Amino acid sequence: MSEKKKILTITDAEWEVMRVAWATKETTSKEVTDILNEKTEWKSTTVKTLLSRLVDKGMLGTTRKGNKFIYFPLVEERKSIEVLSKEILTKVCSKKVGNVLESIINESQLSFEDIDALESLLKEKRKSAVESVPCNCIKGQCQCHIAR
Ligand SMILES: [Zn+2]
Repeated sequence: MSEKKKILTITDAEWEVMRVAWATKETTSKEVTDILNEKTEWKSTTVKTLLSRLVDKGMLGTTRKGNKFIYFPLVEERKSIEVLSKEILTKVCSKKVGNVLESIINESQLSFEDIDALESLLKEKRKSAVESVPCNCIKGQCQCHIAR
């Protein structure tokens, strides 16, 4: 399975576990259970199931250290976030991508540094901007083809 396909199979619950693995670099099922205890009521058996699914999916590696198992990420956090955010944009008409980005930015709290980075990115994007973005949908999945 490609890295992208692996990432797209992760459930919301598995994502919570991945975040711990990314933050800690290597972790144990006890540590994941303790950390997630703050926002979930998952029992250690639940966490163990999630960890083993992530190992099966190739998202986590595991190795034995003494009498316990250590888990570590096999796919980078940055890559995973990139795949997920691109995935959102494949779900809408390409004409609406601008709107989606606008609402994401609108709902986000940003630092001055973030805004500087976005401003220079947009400036760069202006150089290859088009008059009107072409629709990429099949007929009937967006209003572009419907003349009424
Ligand atoms: Zn369309």
